[in-house]
Amino acid sequence: MIIVPEKEIGALLGRKESYSAVEQVFAAMASGDAYNFPVVREAIGHADALYGFKGGFDRAGMTLGLKAGGYWPNNLETHGLINHQSTVFLFDPDTGRVKAIVGGNLLTALRTAAASSVSINHLARKDAKVIGMVGAGHQATFQLRAALEQRDFEKVIGWNLHPEMLPNIEKVANEAGLPFEAVELPGLTEADVIVTITSSFEPTLLSEHVSDGTHVACMGTDTVGKQEVGADLVIRASVFTDEVAQAITLGESQHAVAAGDKAEADIHQIGAVINGTHAGRNSDDEVTLFDGTGVGLQDLAVASAVVDLAVKQGIAIEVDF
Ligand code: NAD
Repeated sequence: MIIVPEKEIGALLGRKESYSAVEQVFAAMASGDAYNFPVVREAIGHADALYGFKGGFDRAGMTLGLKAGGYWPNNLETHGLINHQSTVFLFDPDTGRVKAIVGGNLLTALRTAAASSVSINHLARKDAKVIGMVGAGHQATFQLRAALEQRDFEKVIGWNLHPEMLPNIEKVANEAGLPFEAVELPGLTEADVIVTITSSFEPTLLSEHVSDGTHVACMGTDTVGKQEVGADLVIRASVFTDEVAQAITLGESQHAVAAGDKAEADIHQIGAVINGTHAGRNSDDEVTLFDGTGVGLQDLAVASAVVDLAVKQGIAIEVDF
C-alpha cells in the first residue's frame, strides 16, 4: 500500500495535472464509464462535526475508492487544525485490496478549482476579458488562480459579503499581473465569466447582475438548502453540471427544479460537452451556468494522479499491508 501524506501534495500536483484528471473523469462520467456512489453525510453528534463519504468507480481510469472526511468547525480554535479534513482511499478494482491513502485537503481545493476551470474552458466565450468573483475565502483563491489560465483575462472584479476578505483575491489577481476592482453586485454585469464560491444559504447573485453571454460557474452550493444565485438566473441560463442527480438535489439547481421552474432534462453533464455529444454554448448571447456540486470521482481522479507522481518521484511511502 502507498501513502502520500498531505504535506507532499503541494509539490506533487499542479493545476495542469488537476485540470486534466478532472476533465478526463467528467468525460468518463458522461460516456457511462464512471459513476459516483450515493453520498453519505452525517452530523455525528460529536465536536459539531459533519462527516461523510464520497466514492465511485471509474472503469476508464481504473480508479475505485472514496474520500472520507468533513467539517469540524472547532478545529482551528481548539486544535490549531483547518476545519475541513479529508483523506482519500484508493482500492485495486481487480482485487479489492487497498492501494493507497492520500491526504485530501489540498486535493479538494485543486479538484474544485479544476472543475470550474474545465467549465470555463468549454463554455465561456473565447473573447472573455473580465472575470468576476463572488466569494473571497479559502477556495476563492484556488478558483481564481485556475480560472485565470483559461482565457486572456485583462481584469478581475469581485464582490464579497465580507468586504474585508477581498484582499485575498486581489492578491491573486495582482500576482497574475491583473488589476482588481471591488464592485457592488450590479457592477458584475461587466464580467464575461463569474465564479461564485461562498457558503451562502441565500441567493446573492441575481439574473439582473449578469449580462448576456456570460459564463457563471457556481461552486459553493454543495448541500441541501445552500444557494448562491437567484433561481431566475438558473431558469435563464443553459445549465451544465458535473452530475445531474447531485445538481437537482444539493446543487445550485435544487431550488429552480423543486419549484418546477427548471426541468431535470434541461440540465446537461459537462462531460457531454467535453466528449462532443453536446454542443455546449450555442451563441455569444447565451448565459451558460455550471453547477459544480463536487463529486467523489473528482477526488479519486486527482488522488490517483498524485499516487502516480509520488511513485515516479520516489516520494511515496510504501507499507506492507
Ligand atoms: P471560507 O469559509 O473560506 O469562505 C466562505 C466564503 O463565503 C467567504 O467569501 C464568505 O464571505 C462567504 N460567506 C459566508 N457567509 C455568507 C453568506 N451568508 N452569504 C454570502 N456569502 C457568505 O469557505 P471556503 O473553503 O472558501 O468554501 C466556500 C464554499 O465552497 C463552502 O460552501 C464549501 O462547502 C464549498 N465547497 C464546494 C466544493 C465543490 O466541489 N462544489 C468544494 C469545496 C468547498
